[in-house]
Amino acid sequence: ALKAPAALEDSPTIKVCVRVRPFIKEEVEGQRSGGECKLCIDMQTETGLRILNMEGDAEDDARAFEFDRCYWSHSRDHPLFATQETLQKELGETMLEHAMNGFNNCIFAYGQTGSGKSYSVLGGKGEERGLLPRVVEGLFDHFAKLPEGATYKTLVAFMEIYNEQIRDLLAPANDSETKKLEVKQHPVLGTIVPGLTEAAVASSPEVLALVDYGSAMRHVSATAMNATSSRSHCIFTFKTNLTEPEQPSKVSQTHLVDLAGSERAGRTKATGDRLKEGAAINQSLSTLARVISELAKSAKSKKKPNPPFRESKLTYILKESLCGNSKTVMMAAISPNFLDYDETLSTLKFAQSVK
Ligand code: ADP
Repeated sequence: ALKAPAALEDSPTIKVCVRVRPFIKEEVEGQRSGGECKLCIDMQTETGLRILNMEGDAEDDARAFEFDRCYWSHSRDHPLFATQETLQKELGETMLEHAMNGFNNCIFAYGQTGSGKSYSVLGGKGEERGLLPRVVEGLFDHFAKLPEGATYKTLVAFMEIYNEQIRDLLAPANDSETKKLEVKQHPVLGTIVPGLTEAAVASSPEVLALVDYGSAMRHVSATAMNATSSRSHCIFTFKTNLTEPEQPSKVSQTHLVDLAGSERAGRTKATGDRLKEGAAINQSLSTLARVISELAKSAKSKKKPNPPFRESKLTYILKESLCGNSKTVMMAAISPNFLDYDETLSTLKFAQSVK
């Protein structure tokens, strides 16, 4: 059973979490060039972690971080080990509770390529299922238990943003290349993307089939552009409209966003198209950070916020879900490997900056 909406009032509007992935096969087997695989993250509490130098020390306090929640998914024998189910219990179920009470939600997975963003959002098979499939299952489980007379409707959309261009991942294969999508401001509906497919769905297998279709589309288009899908932002959205007897309808919109890899273009010595890609990614990620921190600041000071939503497609599309009654979670995914020290430190600093 879902809790009363009153409980939501005092939950913070923006939550920042970090998740540490395990060493992957290539790292354990020493196939990753650059040196041995050495652990550079230490976590002792559910909210704090430290990044360690080569000697295994945190150099100073500047290398210790506090967040709303830190998830240790590096080694199973750690007392704080967090599974996909842990994330579902703490983040997924809370999102559902918000959605069913008429609040909007937005969760972003931020981090360098290979840090575990899509593992957290989409995940793998069985117990490795990520937040998206688990939240969708939870949604239809909830609907199945509604009292007689209740009605509900769910719409899903799936899009990607590559080089500031929006692509509909649910469009028929040939359409999506040609269809130019733009974000528009509607006087009543707020920001919308006219022409974006919104599929009416009635079960979780139906949604998951659409997600599979969209993921395949994403892969095909990336290959066609000689890029990888890690260079685009991917937004999965579900809208719900729930009416229970003798209660006002609850309408909500939830976005699960797998952001483009945050690695700096400059560091990979990019040129040409890759440089342009990198610039677009940096621009949208830094706009996102400014929007979130502006919202966080104004929530604390109760001042009217004025975030730069329109400076990137990503933030413009998500506008309705970032302000107003919305709950936002930033999930920073990090590698535990010393080889990724610089990117990990920059991810942790980014995550800290949005608070
Ligand atoms: P990203 O989306 O950030 O590029 P991925 O989600 O693809 O990164 O993760 C990179 C690799 O690490 C994948 O092989 C993935 O299965 C693995 N991985 C990431 N996070 C975890 C985790 N928490 N537990 C187990 N494996 C993980």
